[in-house]
Amino acid sequence: MTLEDLGWNAAFESEFAPYYAKGWKPARLIRDNRITYGALLAEGGGQELEVTMSGKVYHDAETDADLPAVGDWVALELGGDGEETVIQARLTRQSCFSRRAAGHSAEEQVIAANINMVVVVTDAGQDFNPRRMERYFTLISRSGSQAVVLVNKSDLFPDAQNQEAARAIRALNPDAQVYVTSAIQKSGLTELKSCFKRGVTVAFVGSSGVGKSALINLLLGDEWQWTDTVNEVTGKGRHTTTARELLFLPRFGGMLIDNPGIREVQMWTDEKTLREGFADLEQLAKECKYDDCKHRSDAGCAIRQGMENGSFDSGRLEGFLKLDAEIESLRSRRKKRQITIDRRAKRDERTKVRNPSDRKELQAQLNPRA
Ligand code: GDP
Ligand code: ZN
Repeated sequence: MTLEDLGWNAAFESEFAPYYAKGWKPARLIRDNRITYGALLAEGGGQELEVTMSGKVYHDAETDADLPAVGDWVALELGGDGEETVIQARLTRQSCFSRRAAGHSAEEQVIAANINMVVVVTDAGQDFNPRRMERYFTLISRSGSQAVVLVNKSDLFPDAQNQEAARAIRALNPDAQVYVTSAIQKSGLTELKSCFKRGVTVAFVGSSGVGKSALINLLLGDEWQWTDTVNEVTGKGRHTTTARELLFLPRFGGMLIDNPGIREVQMWTDEKTLREGFADLEQLAKECKYDDCKHRSDAGCAIRQGMENGSFDSGRLEGFLKLDAEIESLRSRRKKRQITIDRRAKRDERTKVRNPSDRKELQAQLNPRA
């Protein structure tokens, strides 16, 4: 494995020159455990290390957004026997997915750094939503990465409908590459495969149930096991604290990112817009016998009945159920994040007094004639 496989390029190389001189090593962050990080080194066939931030990196960070994040390239000072390996510097980001934390308009939160390509998956039917697509395009172009859109499940719709959806999406963003695909029929995958190049870091986004996992599994086979949120809920999820969020794919020589933040990209629009895609199912759910129907095996479930009549695509039911689960877990994560942000704000208040410029001010106040 080489640094280039992991996304290294000439700009990173030249920025790193002074760090080489100190004997530090370049590595890419693949996991964020808040206190420690998982870092991938090119040497040793892709050695993975648990690393911590130096006090300097932590204190130099003026905002959360300056802290190292998944996808960042960093300079590591390798620890000797029994010593910690420490992040001594973070390289300039070439692209950056971030969002403003809810309620704190100035607080920017980095979701992933140095992503080259974002694949948005949708379909030409119920999921098709130009407003939501525009929102994705805004986020992707702001991040500095390339947009690819897949109009998936083409087997379910007439070709003219698929082509019309693709045309409408191209009209929204002429820079986006748009392909019509079917994971079931394994069609349209050649173009998509050509996007996976050595050193490219890719993220998949899109509504629940639209076929992201199916497409990724097709493309990557055993290299990647994507576990959906429903499994996460039942406890069979892959997302333990030790899970990699950025994965190297030997077959393509590129990287795939899947951290909770990226998954929530599908949540970056308002809940109302998200639910619009399932308006017919929400309507039908009102006819379920019980108000708290989970639409799984409950008696008198109108949605189950509808599915048995074959009146809608079963993939959409999965999407509908996943959306609820995702909105719920997003809410609890937001709450947790808010607690972290508040705690940091308190820390900053405390350290302010120790800051030399503040100290001078304080002295001036205490001793006005000095
Ligand atoms: P994700 O939530 O975006 O990861 O969606 P999944 O990959 O879990 O797919 C949701 C459902 O849609 C599954 O039942 C898939 O088998 C189905 N599905 C995925 N791609 C296609 C496709 O191209 N055509 C059809 N007919 N169904 C698909
Ligand atoms: Zn029901």
